[in-house]
Amino acid sequence: MSDGLPPLREVVAKYELNAKKSLGQNFLFDLNLTGRIARAAGASDEATFLEIGPGPGGLTRALLAHGAKKVIAVERDDRCLAALEEVAAAYPGRLKLVPGDALALDYPAFLAEQGVTGPARICANLPYNIGTQLLVGWLTQKQWPPFYDRMVLMFQREVAERIVAGPQKRADYGRLGVLANWRCETKILFDVPPAAFTPPPKVTSSVVELRPRAKLLECDAAALERVTAAAFGQRRKMLRQALKGLGVDPLALLEAAGIEPTRRAEEISVEGFVALACALSASLAIQ
Ligand code: SAM
Repeated sequence: MSDGLPPLREVVAKYELNAKKSLGQNFLFDLNLTGRIARAAGASDEATFLEIGPGPGGLTRALLAHGAKKVIAVERDDRCLAALEEVAAAYPGRLKLVPGDALALDYPAFLAEQGVTGPARICANLPYNIGTQLLVGWLTQKQWPPFYDRMVLMFQREVAERIVAGPQKRADYGRLGVLANWRCETKILFDVPPAAFTPPPKVTSSVVELRPRAKLLECDAAALERVTAAAFGQRRKMLRQALKGLGVDPLALLEAAGIEPTRRAEEISVEGFVALACALSASLAIQ
């Protein structure tokens, strides 16, 4: 889709946007690919899009060209802002640029300040060095349903596989998979080869979709974090051993959750971990 703006490679040359590793910069120039991500995110839906790290604007342009009425883009690298201003000028009133650190934002308050009333849609080719940290922050929001109605995010494939993994994919299943699948329905949409990026990363990437579950299994996120950290911290050990560090009797905890003490972390479903987290909260409350 042509937007009358110069090709991204020209933009990068004009503004001297040589990629910085420290900012996790691997840019996308392929319009077919950015268009595919934008369509996967439902760019033409009535939604406000929140993009983290627009960089020179490849995905931003795709979202706008595919119909996004409003994109709020948070970018830490000030060098990119002049290039992004050109995109904003080509789509009057539809792109709001926010210079700043995406890790430092209180998202519900930030979106309220931006005048966003409904849930936002997060769509981003995340900086690989802080992608997991950002995702965990979005997944552990106190308010649920959260401030977003969907996330369509690019990660390194290895991280994407951990996000979607359940006990049937034991090698990848861990704390991230439990958290992500407790709060969202998750799936990998498609892979993206290293050659699609400039500069190319060493590994394949994947676009992941996460949709918040309307009905959550009740449990305290901090308790869930504690049981999964203990269980997967010693994933080869039986749970009766691995859960010893929690400061409560592991056998009583496992019995309350209806889990056999000889099981290992990687065999336990999300529901099982939620039951363990509830048992831990209850047990700490009466101590
Ligand atoms: N969206 C662009 C694309 O697809 O070509 C760039 C993606 S690049 C993988 C990640 C972007 O995130 C870079 O533009 C980088 O400057 C930005 N970034 C890195 N750390 C950030 C942070 N803490 N807050 C906001 N943006 C950040």
